[in-house]
Amino acid sequence: MAKNKFFVGYRCTLCGHFFTPEEASFTCPHCGEKGILDVVYDYEKMKKEVNLKYFNNNRDYSMWRYAPMISIETDHIKDMLRIGWTPLIRSHNLAKQLGLRTLYIKDDGLNPSGSSKDRASGIGVLKALEAGADTIATSSTGNAASSLACQAAHIGLKAVIFVPKRAPIGKVTQISLYGATLVKVDGDYKDTFAFSKEAIKKYGWYNRNCAINPHLVEGKKTVSLEIAEQLNFKPTDWVAVSVGDGCTVAGVYKGFFELKELGLIAKVPRILAVQSEGCEPFVIASHAHQPLKEAEENTIADSISVGIPRNPVKAINAVKNSDGVWISISDEEILQAEALLGRTEGIFAEPAAAASLAGVIKAVKEGIIPKEESVTFIVTGNGLKDPANAQKVIIPPEPMKPNLETLDKFLKEKKEK
Ligand SMILES: *Cc1c(COP(=O)(O)O)cnc(C)c1O
Ligand SMILES: [Zn+2]
Repeated sequence: MAKNKFFVGYRCTLCGHFFTPEEASFTCPHCGEKGILDVVYDYEKMKKEVNLKYFNNNRDYSMWRYAPMISIETDHIKDMLRIGWTPLIRSHNLAKQLGLRTLYIKDDGLNPSGSSKDRASGIGVLKALEAGADTIATSSTGNAASSLACQAAHIGLKAVIFVPKRAPIGKVTQISLYGATLVKVDGDYKDTFAFSKEAIKKYGWYNRNCAINPHLVEGKKTVSLEIAEQLNFKPTDWVAVSVGDGCTVAGVYKGFFELKELGLIAKVPRILAVQSEGCEPFVIASHAHQPLKEAEENTIADSISVGIPRNPVKAINAVKNSDGVWISISDEEILQAEALLGRTEGIFAEPAAAASLAGVIKAVKEGIIPKEESVTFIVTGNGLKDPANAQKVIIPPEPMKPNLETLDKFLKEKKEK
């Protein structure tokens, strides 16, 4: 099998020990489960191959164009769905409303299953194939689940998926439609995660859980590789992303960090890490300069409703090392941002994805982001997954008789509003 040439091993995010691929696989042999590993490459060697010329000659418009930077064996890539290379859209209308000179939207809701999670699930199924597994499992607030079900269906793996009972209808429907075994847990995400862990251990399924499996962040980092490349390796001053478990923000940082190591970008953008006020363990910890504590899970943004984040160290380091900022916004601000994004740019984001925009709006208002600095925000999930929450900010019309006078009256009333 074609192994990655530059992958050399892992470094523990807690104790800093380095391990070769033979010495470790999932978590640190010294620190145990809390010792989440970072995948390490030989950047000096990678530099010679992964350079501007490599990118200019690359005709693969998917995340797999970055395969030399990802710790996977590559034989099955050709069989995968097209994940990644989602559009980076220059905003004019929204930028003007916010008074920002340069604003970009990375629309990751356009991935095969409608969220950024496809970047990680794609790696998950490849890793399961490498391991010779026939079943892959995960617990998820919704998107990792529907995404894994999607990728597993396409590649021909069985999937067992644990979701909390409040997962939105769009996501739950996707999981069953893609033919996965859906275990709906009568409890919140914390209960779901704990239960899936027990089951995965008992049945020996391949574990997709992003925090524990170090390779999945390697998929998530491709979103920054794309943002940078789509901007000719001059990324914006800021990149905003919402945070639940912390894997996405960790990936966002790692992508930029590696491009800097390779000499392809001059500096890592500052990360605006956004949580919801109803579930903000990272924000509380960072403002109080204290270790992370369990938080309530009380927000409409289900994808970031994570009371016990599973990847805290990588997420905290990502924000710190990028000179970033933690911020939280209310559910009302999320819904307003969702409607504004739809109205001004024609992009429909689910609440957790609109949260990144809500964070940008607040950061601009508070002077955290100066108006002359450039910003990209990541739309991590498609709004069609969760129309019920969107209907809280739009007013669905009552049916009318097909009569022009009624229509006339209706249009006038609408105009007055
Ligand atoms: C998973 C997810 C996030 C947050 O990612 P984490 O890795 O859990 O921090 C944000 N938005 C959407 C739409 C997601 O599905
Ligand atoms: Zn360790």
